[in-house]
Amino acid sequence: MLYQRSSQLFAEAIKVIPGGVNSPVRAFKAVGGTPVFIKEAKGAYLYDEDDNRLIDYINSWGPMILGHAYEPVVDAVIERAKKGTSFGTPTALETKIAALAVNMVPNIDKIRFVNSGTEACMSAIRLARGYTKRDKIIKFAGCYHGHSDSFLIQAGSGAVTFGTPNSPGVTQGTAQDTLLANYNDLDNVAALFKANPNGIAAIIIEPVAGNMGCIPPAEGFLKGLRQLCDANGTLLIFDEVMTGFRLAKGGTQELFDVKADIVTFGKVIGGGLPVGAFAGRNEIMDYLAPLGSVYQAGTLSGNPLAMAAGFEMLKALNDDITVYERLAQKTAYLEQGIREKLNAANVVYTINRIGSMISVHFDATPVTDFKTAANGDNATFKKFFHGLLEEGVYIAPSAYETWFITDALTYDDLDYTIQAVGKVAKTL
Ligand code: PMP
Repeated sequence: MLYQRSSQLFAEAIKVIPGGVNSPVRAFKAVGGTPVFIKEAKGAYLYDEDDNRLIDYINSWGPMILGHAYEPVVDAVIERAKKGTSFGTPTALETKIAALAVNMVPNIDKIRFVNSGTEACMSAIRLARGYTKRDKIIKFAGCYHGHSDSFLIQAGSGAVTFGTPNSPGVTQGTAQDTLLANYNDLDNVAALFKANPNGIAAIIIEPVAGNMGCIPPAEGFLKGLRQLCDANGTLLIFDEVMTGFRLAKGGTQELFDVKADIVTFGKVIGGGLPVGAFAGRNEIMDYLAPLGSVYQAGTLSGNPLAMAAGFEMLKALNDDITVYERLAQKTAYLEQGIREKLNAANVVYTINRIGSMISVHFDATPVTDFKTAANGDNATFKKFFHGLLEEGVYIAPSAYETWFITDALTYDDLDYTIQAVGKVAKTL
């Protein structure tokens, strides 16, 4: 395939945009080459500026769970836009989507909308600190919670792809309030509690990690965290920016039957528009301004276009009782196909999957935390990535990312992808 026009556009972009991209993971820094510039998208496909059609396994990094340009969302946005794009006053639409989200997700009474997952997580820890009157938080190595200062300590996703896990610009003072633990390691977390009695406001975790590849929690891990939080007066924050409305209607609380105190959302909840949200029970959420003293605000928060898109997306997922089952079946089918092709070519690999999240790691050891995720063979990943791109299959340009499966994918698309993996596997 030719990517000539994308290359030209990238050359123009780097003159006026740092690195040519508005978010680092879009650059092909980890895999080499130039990013593909997309002109439009529909269903399971991206159409780029060179008129290549690509089967999309990134799906805007998660939001497009029902495919690109999903009609109810697009129609709602167009209709809303004609009536004004922002008012800075409350709208009925905000209550409508809030009520739907509260109804779909267990253990939450109230939800506040923001503009990104970063904002949601940043606000969630401020709320947890205000509520508990404590300063420290525990985060897990390889988990990504957006780019606010407290989280850029051994973060996953782009922050690890580029080898700058502790970003310059984050002060020592901020960093010292973030305690690091290993994913799936309860003893490690227990030791942090012991060393910081009455000091830990919250544990924040991706209940299924998706920013070091896809790593499901070990049996009992989330329940163990819940117990440790209860025993220490600490809040448990589930960062469901990736998993919320993707793995189940009620997210991972429903899936693993574990209660979180605060849940953060992004991606799917905005149907492809810039939306984040955080939610919890009344007792905690009422600490927020204007009711309480924990301040949080936003000029464009609850924006009518974003709320219209999000509402249509959540409604579609809520109304379709088999959607999560279908997504999981498609992903399992893909997993099986990829396994067969990689086995046939004697490639060493590990595949992690849960629901519609899947990642392929080029290493034989099970991938259960950041350390094992980092063991993967990057040279092989690069070849795999570029080989698939040549075949018109678009996966994330980094070994630390999850593939996001969309319901718009047909079994023909999946078969094509499996064949492409077979071809590429022979070259690895
Ligand atoms: N939390 C998680 C789990 C994420 O995956 C991401 C983004 N990939 C974020 C937070 C940050 O969201 P955003 O990019 O919308 O700021």
